[in-house]
Amino acid sequence: MTDALPEGFVTAQLGAGYEPGAVAQQTVAVPIHQSSAYQFHSLRQARERFALREKGFIYSRNSHPTQAVLEQRVAALEDGVAAAATGSGQAATAVATLALAGHGGHIVAASQLYGGTVDLFHDTLADFGIDVTFVDQDDLNAWHDAVRPQTRAFFAESVANPVAQVLDMAAVAEIAHAAGVPLVIDNTVATPALLRPKRFGADIVVHSATKFLGGHGTSLAGVVVDLGTFDFGAQPERWPALTEPHWRFGGVPLWEAFGREGAFTTLVKSKYIADLGPALSPFNAFQIIEGIETLNLRVDRHAASGLAVARFLSRHPAVAAVHHPGLDSSPWHPLADRYLPRGVPSVFAFELESMGDDEADYARAEAVIDALRVIRLVANIGDARSLACHPATMTHNHLTRDQLSAAGISYATVRLSVGLEDPSELIADLAQALDRL
Ligand SMILES: *Cc1c(COP(=O)(O)O)cnc(C)c1O
Repeated sequence: MTDALPEGFVTAQLGAGYEPGAVAQQTVAVPIHQSSAYQFHSLRQARERFALREKGFIYSRNSHPTQAVLEQRVAALEDGVAAAATGSGQAATAVATLALAGHGGHIVAASQLYGGTVDLFHDTLADFGIDVTFVDQDDLNAWHDAVRPQTRAFFAESVANPVAQVLDMAAVAEIAHAAGVPLVIDNTVATPALLRPKRFGADIVVHSATKFLGGHGTSLAGVVVDLGTFDFGAQPERWPALTEPHWRFGGVPLWEAFGREGAFTTLVKSKYIADLGPALSPFNAFQIIEGIETLNLRVDRHAASGLAVARFLSRHPAVAAVHHPGLDSSPWHPLADRYLPRGVPSVFAFELESMGDDEADYARAEAVIDALRVIRLVANIGDARSLACHPATMTHNHLTRDQLSAAGISYATVRLSVGLEDPSELIADLAQALDRL
């Protein structure tokens, strides 16, 4: 055949110029390791990696080098010992709670949660035999009273989405620890740039890195961070997946093999992420890493602009209330002073003057939201752009009337995620929209 390819062409197509596992190329930015799988030097090396006796990459559903950098970076920002990255924040919450509660377990959770988390806890975790009791996060007795022998975790957001209630984290952590269970904190809205949950007794942090960590609204990602504070060995019968020998981990208990530094994230990765498959793509991991490089600068600006917008709204006659804990009028202001001294996140909500009727309140919210020109109608937060949404009919639309009021949401509630634009432009935009009422 005259049109045959030169000898070795296809082999070259698949491998020339690149030596898997060669020394670093000294690229200063983190490379996107867009590879599904990793080549072993020998079968012995493959065997050691599969048995978790040697660190290293196998297959990108479990981990890949770009993800490993992201994990170490977020763990460092949260002062944690290890992290596991996932394809979304939703997956991070799912795998963290599955790994803690197991079948038949129970979780006590705040009622003030992101709507997707409420759906997961209320509906899908029930499919796994996990029961969740929701409590008003400000009612410390309710946390205490909800504990059962099967309780395996407390769960709350450090600053709740959308109404920005600030959790009294140290008090809730104390109740969790007295019950012998870890406190899991969703730190998406605050980010470690404003609040590090470890300082206040949290044990595990989850993030939707999609939001402020990435910061530009381009990529979904999630992270579970083990802060290394919880002693799963203290009551080993409660955490058999960690403390008993397991066939899939070579018959050695993870707690024995990896200890506080790695047992929990190894369980999350090697079992839940590997089996359920919510892997993070290398490209998205890269985007989040790049976003994190400017996290503190962006978050400071978001916080300052958010407060300026909140102050404007609090003086507007069409606005009944502004749920911004940076304002003196907020019931969470004292907690914000304690937990958020660097600034309050720019995700908060305000209430339009209510007509006492859902349809009428909806119509007023619609008139305001549809009149916005700079602030965009988007079901996301933590973007560089300013975003508005109507939680009752968007992010929290699956919630019942009771669940909505427990989360502090009505049809007159509008959520904002204040972005990086000039705050005077945002205030002018809100002014022209509110003046239509
Ligand atoms: C968005 C969000 C999630 C879910 O994260 P995804 O990345 O969208 O899956 C969880 N918690 C909070 C507080 C969020 O805002």
